[in-house]
Amino acid sequence: MKKQPTCPCCGFDFEFKPVLIGVPFQCPNCGKQLRTSQLYAICIKSIALLASIAIPLYFGFRWYYVCLAAALLYAPSYYVAAILARATAPPNLEDASDILTLVQK
Ligand SMILES: [Zn+2]
Repeated sequence: MKKQPTCPCCGFDFEFKPVLIGVPFQCPNCGKQLRTSQLYAICIKSIALLASIAIPLYFGFRWYYVCLAAALLYAPSYYVAAILARATAPPNLEDASDILTLVQK
């Protein structure tokens, strides 16, 4: 069984809690701002983009329909990729408070 994401500050187990990918969120136990690594978010988005393009290509759509279908399929592809990624390779969570203080300045 794969290790579930845990808070790096307090060790809270996110096994039954949703983890936002690429967006800072608050740990429900200690209140720290957390986020997944940027590389993890980029990988999920890349997989979703490739799947949303590959699916209409597989069914033989013309290029302009491929673009339209890819735009429509990106969100569901992202959702499926995120679920599969969490089940097979759970994200490491990092402290996002340093990022947020940079943004607030
Ligand atoms: Zn915590």
